[in-house]
Amino acid sequence: MALLSVVLPSYNEEQNIANTARVLRELLEAEGIEYELVFVSDGSGDGTYREIQRASEADPRVKGACFSRNFGKEASIFAGLRLSRGDAVVVMDCDLQHPPEVIPQMWKLWQEGYQVVEGVKSSRGRESLGHKLSAGLFYRIMSRLIRMDMNASSDYKLLDRRVVDVLLALPERNTFFRALTFWAGFPTASVSYEVRERQFGESKWSFFSLMRYAVNNVTSFSTMPLQLVTVTGLLFICCSAVLAVQTLVRYLTGTAVEGFTTVILLILIVGGCLMLSLGIIGHYIARIYEEVKGRPKYIISQVTENVQGDALGSWK
Ligand code: UDP
Ligand code: MG
Repeated sequence: MALLSVVLPSYNEEQNIANTARVLRELLEAEGIEYELVFVSDGSGDGTYREIQRASEADPRVKGACFSRNFGKEASIFAGLRLSRGDAVVVMDCDLQHPPEVIPQMWKLWQEGYQVVEGVKSSRGRESLGHKLSAGLFYRIMSRLIRMDMNASSDYKLLDRRVVDVLLALPERNTFFRALTFWAGFPTASVSYEVRERQFGESKWSFFSLMRYAVNNVTSFSTMPLQLVTVTGLLFICCSAVLAVQTLVRYLTGTAVEGFTTVILLILIVGGCLMLSLGIIGHYIARIYEEVKGRPKYIISQVTENVQGDALGSWK
């Protein structure tokens, strides 16, 4: 019988682990789906890993790992994918904001032959207006950059083993899980779901971490910002040609004035653009630097006893 793995990245979620494991057990047993749960504690500072161990002792279908420190949600998703053994793998948040009732629908679509089943948010749940607007803008830019419509997409997905293996074989360290499944292709279906309220604990995202997330994801998928630098340069060259002609004509006709304001403004604008361009280029160099160093995406410090294979040895 086919096995379903559910990967649950968890960061400071001690209140959620036992509850989530119970909800999933009840649901999947009722549906008659054979499953395993893979919790990855992302360097949590609370008792998350202790809870995972406890759940694992109570039920051998629950396994888990613990990072040596916080490596971020992307890293915990990839670690979970690596530890999973299922023929199909669902990735979901362990705060149950991704409603588990959708899993049987995803499972059915997978059995029909779809290798990727995307969870699509039908509503974004309760968020501040600023958050909604910036998320909207981010997805619009991302969709344009990677030429795929990823509005309302999320990390809630089911992947076939084949797709999981493709993602795990990618050599890059700066990954963007949400977009990579689009990038990989494969026959895709989608199910829509409503984002739930969080029951315990609070969201781990601050404004700045979201900003960093957005910038990193755009630059890990697109070199468009670099081309923007070239385009700005071209624009300035065009403008300067016009200004040069005008300045020369003024000089030759003897009507050249001080033009102090123009000079100051031009210096400020050009200086600003140069700095910005350097910043953009610097950002890409930093990404190259990170990739070239080839450090692992995460470091696993502990695994539960039922994890097979050499999880502690495999860094990537
Ligand atoms: N998460 C993680 N590492 C982090 C931040 C979050 O593994 O550094 C996990 C977290 O435990 C949760 C999921 O990612 O299962 C989504 O996080 P959260 O609920 O804080 O985000 P939101 O639902 O507000 O987008
Ligand atoms: Mg959440």
